[in-house]
Amino acid sequence: MRKKIVAGNWKMNLDLEQAGDLTNEVCRLIKENETTTGGMAPEVIFFPPFVFLPMVEARCRELPGVYSGAQNCHHMEKGAFTGEVSAAMIRSLGVTHTLVGHSERRAYFGEDEPLLAQKVKLALENDLTPVFCCGEVLKEREAGRHFEVIASQLVDGLFWLDKTGIGRVVIAYEPVWAIGTGVTASPEQAQEVHAHIRKLLAETYGQEVAGAMTILYGGSCNARNAKELFSKPDVDGGLIGGASLKPADFFQIIQSF
Ligand code: PEP
Repeated sequence: MRKKIVAGNWKMNLDLEQAGDLTNEVCRLIKENETTTGGMAPEVIFFPPFVFLPMVEARCRELPGVYSGAQNCHHMEKGAFTGEVSAAMIRSLGVTHTLVGHSERRAYFGEDEPLLAQKVKLALENDLTPVFCCGEVLKEREAGRHFEVIASQLVDGLFWLDKTGIGRVVIAYEPVWAIGTGVTASPEQAQEVHAHIRKLLAETYGQEVAGAMTILYGGSCNARNAKELFSKPDVDGGLIGGASLKPADFFQIIQSF
Protein backbone atom coordinates (compact mmCIF):
# COMPACT_ATOMS: atom_id res chain seq x y z
CA MET A 1 0.00 0.00 0.00
CA ARG A 2 1.40 3.42 -0.87
CA LYS A 3 2.18 5.98 1.79
CA LYS A 4 -0.47 8.49 2.89
CA ILE A 5 0.90 11.91 3.85
CA VAL A 6 -0.49 15.09 5.35
CA ALA A 7 1.96 17.98 5.16
CA GLY A 8 1.66 21.49 6.54
CA ASN A 9 3.25 24.39 4.67
CA TRP A 10 3.46 27.25 7.17
CA LYS A 11 4.87 29.64 4.55
CA MET A 12 6.24 32.92 6.06
CA ASN A 13 4.05 32.87 9.18
CA LEU A 14 4.46 32.61 12.99
CA ASP A 15 7.24 33.56 15.42
CA LEU A 16 9.39 31.12 17.37
CA GLU A 17 6.97 30.79 20.27
CA GLN A 18 3.94 30.33 18.04
CA ALA A 19 5.81 27.80 15.92
CA GLY A 20 6.74 25.84 19.06
CA ASP A 21 3.16 25.92 20.33
CA LEU A 22 1.79 24.73 16.99
CA THR A 23 4.28 21.86 16.75
CA ASN A 24 3.66 20.82 20.37
CA GLU A 25 -0.10 20.90 20.04
CA VAL A 26 -0.23 18.88 16.81
CA CYS A 27 2.26 16.36 18.25
CA ARG A 28 0.22 16.11 21.45
CA LEU A 29 -2.98 15.41 19.50
CA ILE A 30 -1.22 12.78 17.39
CA LYS A 31 0.26 11.09 20.46
CA GLU A 32 -2.99 11.13 22.40
CA ASN A 33 -4.93 9.61 19.52
CA GLU A 34 -2.34 7.07 18.38
CA THR A 35 -4.66 4.16 19.01
CA THR A 36 -7.59 5.65 17.06
CA THR A 37 -5.60 6.49 13.92
CA GLY A 38 -3.85 3.08 14.04
CA GLY A 39 -2.67 1.54 10.76
CA MET A 40 -4.41 4.23 8.72
CA ALA A 41 -2.29 6.98 10.26
CA PRO A 42 -0.64 9.05 7.53
CA GLU A 43 2.89 10.40 7.78
CA VAL A 44 2.84 13.99 8.95
CA ILE A 45 5.37 16.55 7.72
CA PHE A 46 5.78 20.10 9.00
CA PHE A 47 7.27 22.62 6.56
CA PRO A 48 8.17 25.61 8.79
CA PRO A 49 10.32 28.58 7.76
CA PHE A 50 14.06 27.74 7.81
CA VAL A 51 14.75 29.49 11.12
CA PHE A 52 12.35 27.22 13.01
CA LEU A 53 13.54 23.96 11.43
CA PRO A 54 16.00 22.89 14.19
CA MET A 55 13.31 23.36 16.86
CA VAL A 56 10.60 21.60 14.85
CA GLU A 57 12.94 18.78 13.85
CA ALA A 58 13.96 18.15 17.47
CA ARG A 59 10.30 17.78 18.46
CA CYS A 60 9.41 15.58 15.46
CA ARG A 61 12.27 13.22 16.25
CA GLU A 62 10.41 12.09 19.36
CA LEU A 63 7.33 10.95 17.44
CA PRO A 64 7.40 8.13 14.86
CA GLY A 65 5.76 9.06 11.56
CA VAL A 66 6.20 12.81 12.09
CA TYR A 67 8.84 14.61 10.01
CA SER A 68 10.11 18.07 9.20
CA GLY A 69 10.88 19.62 5.84
CA ALA A 70 12.24 22.83 4.35
CA GLN A 71 10.04 25.03 2.16
CA ASN A 72 12.85 25.41 -0.35
CA CYS A 73 16.50 24.64 -0.95
CA HIS A 74 19.06 26.28 -3.20
CA HIS A 75 19.89 24.81 -6.59
CA MET A 76 23.67 24.96 -6.09
CA GLU A 77 25.67 22.77 -3.79
CA LYS A 78 27.40 25.58 -1.85
CA GLY A 79 29.30 28.83 -2.30
CA ALA A 80 28.83 32.57 -2.63
CA PHE A 81 25.02 32.72 -2.50
CA THR A 82 24.38 35.11 0.38
CA GLY A 83 21.12 34.43 2.19
CA GLU A 84 20.54 31.01 0.63
CA VAL A 85 20.31 27.57 2.24
CA SER A 86 21.66 24.38 0.68
CA ALA A 87 20.23 20.87 0.66
CA ALA A 88 23.27 19.64 2.62
CA MET A 89 22.69 22.24 5.37
CA ILE A 90 19.06 21.20 5.68
CA ARG A 91 19.97 17.52 5.86
CA SER A 92 22.64 18.23 8.47
CA LEU A 93 19.84 19.31 10.86
CA GLY A 94 18.25 15.86 10.62
CA VAL A 95 15.48 17.26 8.42
CA THR A 96 14.12 14.71 5.92
CA HIS A 97 12.08 16.56 3.26
CA THR A 98 12.07 19.69 1.14
CA LEU A 99 9.41 21.33 -0.99
CA VAL A 100 10.54 21.97 -4.55
CA GLY A 101 8.73 24.26 -6.98
CA HIS A 102 5.91 25.57 -4.81
CA SER A 103 3.82 27.90 -6.99
CA GLU A 104 4.84 30.89 -4.85
CA ARG A 105 8.51 30.13 -5.59
CA ARG A 106 7.68 29.81 -9.29
CA ALA A 107 5.63 33.03 -9.38
CA TYR A 108 7.64 35.35 -7.10
CA PHE A 109 11.16 34.00 -7.53
CA GLY A 110 11.05 32.97 -11.19
CA GLU A 111 11.83 29.32 -10.52
CA ASP A 112 11.45 27.22 -13.65
CA GLU A 113 11.79 23.54 -14.45
CA PRO A 114 15.53 23.45 -15.31
CA LEU A 115 16.27 25.10 -11.96
CA LEU A 116 13.81 22.85 -10.13
CA ALA A 117 15.43 19.79 -11.70
CA GLN A 118 18.73 20.88 -10.12
CA LYS A 119 17.03 21.28 -6.74
CA VAL A 120 15.53 17.79 -7.03
CA LYS A 121 18.97 16.40 -7.88
CA LEU A 122 20.65 18.06 -4.89
CA ALA A 123 17.82 17.09 -2.55
CA LEU A 124 18.15 13.43 -3.52
CA GLU A 125 21.96 13.50 -3.37
CA ASN A 126 21.63 14.80 0.19
CA ASP A 127 19.10 12.19 1.19
CA LEU A 128 16.16 14.60 1.34
CA THR A 129 12.75 13.61 -0.04
CA PRO A 130 11.69 16.26 -2.55
CA VAL A 131 7.99 17.11 -2.49
CA PHE A 132 7.69 18.37 -6.05
CA CYS A 133 4.81 20.82 -6.58
CA CYS A 134 3.06 21.18 -9.92
CA GLY A 135 -0.17 22.80 -11.04
CA GLU A 136 -1.79 25.08 -13.54
CA VAL A 137 -2.82 28.74 -13.18
CA LEU A 138 -6.43 29.76 -13.73
CA LYS A 139 -5.92 30.91 -17.33
CA GLU A 140 -4.46 27.54 -18.24
CA ARG A 141 -7.35 25.70 -16.56
CA GLU A 142 -9.88 27.88 -18.34
CA ALA A 143 -8.18 27.21 -21.66
CA GLY A 144 -8.37 23.47 -20.95
CA ARG A 145 -4.54 23.26 -20.91
CA HIS A 146 -4.08 21.88 -17.39
CA PHE A 147 -3.14 18.32 -18.41
CA GLU A 148 -0.56 19.60 -20.86
CA VAL A 149 0.91 22.12 -18.37
CA ILE A 150 1.29 19.51 -15.65
CA ALA A 151 2.83 17.01 -18.08
CA SER A 152 5.43 19.54 -19.12
CA GLN A 153 6.27 20.45 -15.49
CA LEU A 154 6.73 16.78 -14.63
CA VAL A 155 8.69 15.85 -17.74
CA ASP A 156 11.15 18.74 -17.39
CA GLY A 157 11.32 18.83 -13.61
CA LEU A 158 11.32 15.14 -12.75
CA PHE A 159 11.25 12.66 -15.59
CA TRP A 160 14.98 12.83 -16.20
CA LEU A 161 15.28 10.74 -13.00
CA ASP A 162 15.72 6.99 -13.19
CA LYS A 163 13.27 4.57 -11.58
CA THR A 164 15.03 4.59 -8.22
CA GLY A 165 15.18 8.38 -8.18
CA ILE A 166 11.53 8.97 -9.06
CA GLY A 167 10.51 6.42 -6.43
CA ARG A 168 12.06 8.69 -3.79
CA VAL A 169 9.97 11.71 -4.82
CA VAL A 170 6.54 12.81 -3.56
CA ILE A 171 4.41 14.78 -6.03
CA ALA A 172 1.96 17.48 -4.91
CA TYR A 173 -0.70 18.63 -7.36
CA GLU A 174 -1.56 22.20 -6.41
CA PRO A 175 -3.80 24.09 -8.84
CA VAL A 176 -2.59 27.66 -8.42
CA TRP A 177 -6.14 29.04 -8.59
CA ALA A 178 -6.96 27.02 -5.46
CA ILE A 179 -3.97 28.03 -3.31
CA GLY A 180 -4.96 30.43 -0.54
CA THR A 181 -8.16 31.40 -2.36
CA GLY A 182 -10.76 29.33 -0.51
CA VAL A 183 -11.69 27.83 -3.89
CA THR A 184 -10.89 24.12 -3.64
CA ALA A 185 -10.68 21.81 -6.63
CA SER A 186 -13.65 19.45 -6.48
CA PRO A 187 -12.77 15.88 -5.49
CA GLU A 188 -13.52 14.91 -9.12
CA GLN A 189 -11.19 17.58 -10.53
CA ALA A 190 -8.45 16.49 -8.13
CA GLN A 191 -8.92 12.81 -8.94
CA GLU A 192 -8.88 13.50 -12.69
CA VAL A 193 -5.51 15.27 -12.49
CA HIS A 194 -4.01 12.78 -10.02
CA ALA A 195 -5.01 9.91 -12.33
CA HIS A 196 -3.38 11.81 -15.20
CA ILE A 197 -0.16 12.21 -13.20
CA ARG A 198 -0.17 8.51 -12.33
CA LYS A 199 -0.74 7.62 -15.98
CA LEU A 200 2.24 9.76 -17.00
CA LEU A 201 4.33 8.04 -14.33
CA ALA A 202 3.19 4.62 -15.55
CA GLU A 203 4.02 5.45 -19.18
CA THR A 204 7.51 6.57 -18.20
CA TYR A 205 8.43 4.25 -15.33
CA GLY A 206 5.91 1.37 -15.45
CA GLN A 207 2.83 0.48 -13.43
CA GLU A 208 4.67 -0.75 -10.38
CA VAL A 209 6.56 2.51 -9.84
CA ALA A 210 3.48 4.64 -10.62
CA GLY A 211 1.29 2.63 -8.27
CA ALA A 212 3.70 3.06 -5.37
CA MET A 213 4.05 6.84 -5.64
CA THR A 214 2.36 9.25 -3.26
CA ILE A 215 0.50 12.12 -4.94
CA LEU A 216 -0.80 14.87 -2.65
CA TYR A 217 -3.50 17.43 -3.33
CA GLY A 218 -2.98 21.06 -2.24
CA GLY A 219 -5.14 24.15 -2.59
CA SER A 220 -7.61 25.33 0.09
CA CYS A 221 -7.83 21.83 1.53
CA ASN A 222 -9.31 22.11 5.02
CA ALA A 223 -10.94 20.20 7.86
CA ARG A 224 -14.31 20.25 6.06
CA ASN A 225 -13.31 19.05 2.61
CA ALA A 226 -10.28 16.80 3.29
CA LYS A 227 -12.23 13.57 3.80
CA GLU A 228 -13.97 13.76 0.44
CA LEU A 229 -10.76 14.71 -1.37
CA PHE A 230 -8.76 11.93 0.33
CA SER A 231 -11.48 9.36 -0.49
CA LYS A 232 -10.51 9.54 -4.17
CA PRO A 233 -8.39 6.59 -5.28
CA ASP A 234 -5.40 8.58 -6.57
CA VAL A 235 -5.36 11.24 -3.85
CA ASP A 236 -2.90 10.06 -1.20
CA GLY A 237 -3.16 13.00 1.17
CA GLY A 238 -2.67 16.73 1.18
CA LEU A 239 -0.26 19.64 1.25
CA ILE A 240 -2.02 22.10 3.51
CA GLY A 241 -1.31 25.82 3.76
CA GLY A 242 -3.67 28.02 5.80
CA ALA A 243 -5.37 25.19 7.69
CA SER A 244 -2.02 23.78 8.86
CA LEU A 245 -1.62 26.82 11.14
CA LYS A 246 -4.64 25.76 13.23
CA PRO A 247 -3.74 22.68 15.27
CA ALA A 248 -7.31 21.33 15.66
CA ASP A 249 -8.05 21.77 11.95
CA PHE A 250 -4.73 20.28 10.89
CA PHE A 251 -5.26 17.31 13.19
CA GLN A 252 -8.74 16.76 11.77
CA ILE A 253 -7.21 16.70 8.28
CA ILE A 254 -4.67 14.11 9.51
CA GLN A 255 -7.62 11.99 10.59
CA SER A 256 -9.49 12.33 7.29
CA PHE A 257 -8.63 8.93 5.76
C1 PEP B 1 0.03 25.68 -0.17
O1 PEP B 1 0.55 26.76 0.04
O2 PEP B 1 0.71 24.73 -0.52
C2 PEP B 1 -1.42 25.56 0.02
C3 PEP B 1 -2.00 24.48 -0.38
O3 PEP B 1 -2.06 26.63 0.62
P1 PEP B 1 -3.59 26.70 1.07
O4 PEP B 1 -3.94 25.38 1.73
O5 PEP B 1 -3.67 27.83 2.02
O6 PEP B 1 -4.41 26.89 -0.17
